Amino acid sequence: MKLTSFITSRLERKLALLLSLVILLALFFLAWLAISTVKATRQQSVAEIQWQLVNQSVDRLRKFIDDKIENFRIVVADPNVNAIGYEQQTFILEGHLASDDSLVELSFIQPSDGFETARVVRGFDKPIHRVLGRDEPAVASALRGQNYFGPVFFTNNEPRIILASPVINQQSQIIGVLRGEANLKTIIPLIAQANLGQTGYLYVVDSGGRVIAASSQVPSGLSVGTDIKFNPFVSQVLASGLVPGLNDTAVYYSEIAKQEVFVVGRSIPKFNWGVIVEWTTKEAMSVVDEIIIRLLIGTVVLLIFLIVISFWLARRFTKPLRQLTAASVQVGAGQFDVSLPTAGHDEVGELAKSFSQMTAGLKELERLKDEFVFIAAHELRTPVTAIRGYAEMLADSAGSVPAEAREFVSRLQQSGERLAVLVNDLLEVARSQAGRLKVQTSPLDLVVIIQSTLAELKPLADEKQHNISFVPPVSLPQVLADKDKLQEVLVNLIGNAIKYTPAGGQIEIGARQEGNRVVTWIKDSGIGIAPEDQTKLFQRFFRVESEETRNIQGTGLGLFIVRQIIEHMQGRIWVQSVKGKGSTFYFSLPIA
Ligand code: ADP
Repeated sequence: MKLTSFITSRLERKLALLLSLVILLALFFLAWLAISTVKATRQQSVAEIQWQLVNQSVDRLRKFIDDKIENFRIVVADPNVNAIGYEQQTFILEGHLASDDSLVELSFIQPSDGFETARVVRGFDKPIHRVLGRDEPAVASALRGQNYFGPVFFTNNEPRIILASPVINQQSQIIGVLRGEANLKTIIPLIAQANLGQTGYLYVVDSGGRVIAASSQVPSGLSVGTDIKFNPFVSQVLASGLVPGLNDTAVYYSEIAKQEVFVVGRSIPKFNWGVIVEWTTKEAMSVVDEIIIRLLIGTVVLLIFLIVISFWLARRFTKPLRQLTAASVQVGAGQFDVSLPTAGHDEVGELAKSFSQMTAGLKELERLKDEFVFIAAHELRTPVTAIRGYAEMLADSAGSVPAEAREFVSRLQQSGERLAVLVNDLLEVARSQAGRLKVQTSPLDLVVIIQSTLAELKPLADEKQHNISFVPPVSLPQVLADKDKLQEVLVNLIGNAIKYTPAGGQIEIGARQEGNRVVTWIKDSGIGIAPEDQTKLFQRFFRVESEETRNIQGTGLGLFIVRQIIEHMQGRIWVQSVKGKGSTFYFSLPIA
């Protein structure tokens, strides 16, 4: 079904469009709400995942450092360490170096002057003993009784760190310092697996903003030793600890991933390193994109479905109104037997109810009018017949009528004729309206009837010097019709052709078989009928108002009666006409 034929009335279209608009807005709002909720939820869970990774990594790094310090404490747990000979000291340090891969060197330092009493260096047999002095930061810190954890520095592009601890005897006196250098390369395995999806990675920077370690998925542009202190996010993390805040994530364009990323970061307070996780928004939100696509498809499908429903609803709502409109058009055309919408209890139902009351009233009025016309016409027949009879008698006894009164008698006769025609027409109309028009059909020879009608009308045609021709067909089947009524039809149609054709016209009558009917036509070369009048010709009292018809007398009932008769005989009547050229009236009758 085409949509245009589906929507017929303007009200229906308006209603449907209004409903569709409301649905569209509602769905649009819902879809927007759903999409933004899904996005926010996903962003929240991305933040949680990122923080989990950061915290986990921070814990591991802390534990790594704490373990180192702890090991130092164990090393210096022997209170008699200063009583141990230098050979023995070297032996202890060597054992410890062997047990911890990350240590590069270890030394015992004399608290009095900062001299290394024992020193072991990985890969060297007999390293020299240095004089570091009491002011060397690691030594100084240990001499104050504190564990020392120095800043990261790079040797051969490897991040390193200095550690130091005081050696304390049973009397709580600092009797020496244990100082070591650790290689931070060993923290890389701790965070190597700290990746997210295919594009998320983690990296650790020292307090100076240089990369100490990174997870395996970090883009190749970022390697250990790279200085990224100018990265705005990194400097923010080093300056303020938690960025952008716990369980929250920020979005920025990452120079590392070369695209937009979700980023979170925190610093490890003790030694102010920064741990940062970046994940491309594209990958992190890809789940959401899928959901959004599904949501949008669903919304569109729902929208189409609801719009179809709204059109259907609009059609349903306006159906009684359309029926009422059709009914009122019918009533306007004088037909009161209309079908009305089954009345509901709403305003439209009320309207339908009062409409049917109105048509009932009109119908009754129509019936009373027909009744009145019928009775009046019927009662008029007797006096009219009397007037015509006496007028004829007067005309017949012309000798006894004074000469000056003869003219009046002739006018009296003419008027009596006209009155009789009018009364008969009215009677006929009233009969047909009241369903009292009776036709008694029998097989008839149409040609004979046409010929007798022509003979009857010849004086009228001669008066206007018309040339009437009728060529009977070679063979024509009998028709099923009422003889008197058929004659009435022919008198009317041929009479009109004579009346509405200027003097000296051509009138042609013909008949032929068409299937199981016989079509008769009366063609004239008269004044013709305009197209807009042709549709109204067969209505009661319709007469064409024009210059040509002004002086032609008539009631406008003839064609109406003709149609009633033809239709009662199961036939059909129609007209073809060109204004100014002439008209052809056709009627069909069933063959016997
Ligand atoms: P009337 O009594 O006016 O002739 P009819 O019902 O017979 O009434 O015809 C209705 C109107 O149709 C006429 O008034 C006339 O204007 C037009 N009409 C009928 N027949 C013809 C015709 N053959 N040529 C032109 N107009 C015609």
